[in-house]
Amino acid sequence: MVEKKIPKATARRLPLYYRYLRFLHEAGKNRVSSAKLSEAVKVDSATIRRDFSYFGALGKRGYGYDVEALMNFFSKTLNQDRLTNVALIGVGNLGQALLNYNFRRNNNTRISAGFDINEKLIGTIHQGVPIYHIDEMVEQLDLQQIDVAILTVPSEIAQEMANKLVEGGVKGIMNFTPIRVNVPDSVRVHNVDLTNELQTLIYFINYYQELDDEEEVIIDEETGEIFVED
Ligand code: ATP
Repeated sequence: MVEKKIPKATARRLPLYYRYLRFLHEAGKNRVSSAKLSEAVKVDSATIRRDFSYFGALGKRGYGYDVEALMNFFSKTLNQDRLTNVALIGVGNLGQALLNYNFRRNNNTRISAGFDINEKLIGTIHQGVPIYHIDEMVEQLDLQQIDVAILTVPSEIAQEMANKLVEGGVKGIMNFTPIRVNVPDSVRVHNVDLTNELQTLIYFINYYQELDDEEEVIIDEETGEIFVED
């Protein structure tokens, strides 16, 4: 089998494309122009064309893209045909919000087990999801073949829980704690710091208002540092 490497930035945009294509498909649309797609997913058309080019010629000039064909293609690429069970570590306020949400827009991904130390929660079922004692985590991850975990525990124990998750064989951690956890290279961590995101948004709003029109803001994508150029 020939495997082609695609850039990480492209891979990150695939769920975005897929979700919109599914929406179009459910709305009975057969095709979509690249301009429409670009507007909907807020990615410029040149980037979309480049992204799609990694997968061969998926569109036709003057016709746009075939919604169903493209959706099926991305579905396979994103492994949507396979149900992915996700573990939730820490069923506090944020954890329970995620349990209630349970990624309903996506049929193939769901939280299937929650873990906590709170005796009031252990043994209960929330939104159809059983909550286990944290000591059962490693065993349940193995039994339920769970590769992905969401971390919503207090910061102080984030690293300890990450170690346990690694021990349990997970391949990916979605880390909602503000702590940057250390894991082996074989495990992927995505950090989602909601407080930080909100603060950054507020900072941007205030900052942009103070800039005069001549100045240009440049952001270093790697470090997040902001420079101002006249
Ligand atoms: P948040 O909104 O961050 O979830 P919270 O106030 O609901 O906040 P936290 O103190 O952040 O609760 O804890 C989150 C959850 O993690 C709680 O349900 C708590 O019982 C659980 N927790 C705390 N320590 C552990 C641990 N050692 N193992 C597993 N779960 C834990």
